Amino acid sequence: MGHEYSGDVVEVGKHVTDFGKGDIITGESILWCGKCLPCRHGMLNQCENIELMGLTSDGAFAEYMAVKAKYCWNLTDLLEKFETDKVYNLGTLIEPVGCAYNGIFVSGGGFLPGASAVVYGAGPIGLGAVALLKTAGAGKIIALDIVDERLEIAKKMGADHVFNPDKTPDLGKLITELTNGWGADLQIEATGAARRTIPLIESVYSNRSKVIYLGRADSLATVQLNKMVSGAHSFVGSRGHSGYGIFPNIIRLLHGGRLGSLEEMITSIFPFSGIMSAFETSKKRTDGKVLVKVN
Ligand SMILES: [Zn+2]
Repeated sequence: MGHEYSGDVVEVGKHVTDFGKGDIITGESILWCGKCLPCRHGMLNQCENIELMGLTSDGAFAEYMAVKAKYCWNLTDLLEKFETDKVYNLGTLIEPVGCAYNGIFVSGGGFLPGASAVVYGAGPIGLGAVALLKTAGAGKIIALDIVDERLEIAKKMGADHVFNPDKTPDLGKLITELTNGWGADLQIEATGAARRTIPLIESVYSNRSKVIYLGRADSLATVQLNKMVSGAHSFVGSRGHSGYGIFPNIIRLLHGGRLGSLEEMITSIFPFSGIMSAFETSKKRTDGKVLVKVN
């Protein structure tokens, strides 16, 4: 297991020229083949031979791991700006934040500065979305989660308003009021609880509202197509974080000090010997991002 990681290069293969011993790197967890038709179209996240680190391929909860150079990105320059530990910590966040980046800016085509946005779910991807929205100039960011602790993190990361849907009656009306009756230009679904979120999404559409769908769910959900057509809304699915300059762009944002709040999402760091406690903590879902420090 383990697919959001950073670490030191201790050895490189004889054909590797871009990395050297001592570099600090992070890597994509989408292990794309580079040969299939989607890959050759540049759609690495839709690779037909996809392997997922930590799921179908060995993950990063290990003292040493072998990873192909083509999936790695160098973090060493960040040492110019941050302490070493912070570079490792930030490095682990690029993968989940990259999924939000892909959804908002690549698959979703971005948004106009000043736009109003609602983020459903304040796990690592939703929190990454909050940070990116703030950085890219969203006018108002509203974050929702059923765990209050996560809402507090969302606030620290740049959300203007946070609400727990379990404790907030008439949430749709409230969001409409907070956007002066206009609604949400951009809605980012990062919960996977579609049956619950879609009715709310539909109640706070602006005109031409864009819904970026990142949550995974194998259940069916109902979308009112008439509403979608009349308001010219769109639903955009998005998977993964590979390609399109996503990793290097996030590294550049970090280097430039433009994603300063990102580290706020790290709420627990466990030693490798305490990895089982890390899983127990993670299961409570009150944390932002739980890290395991291997050594
Ligand atoms: Zn492929």
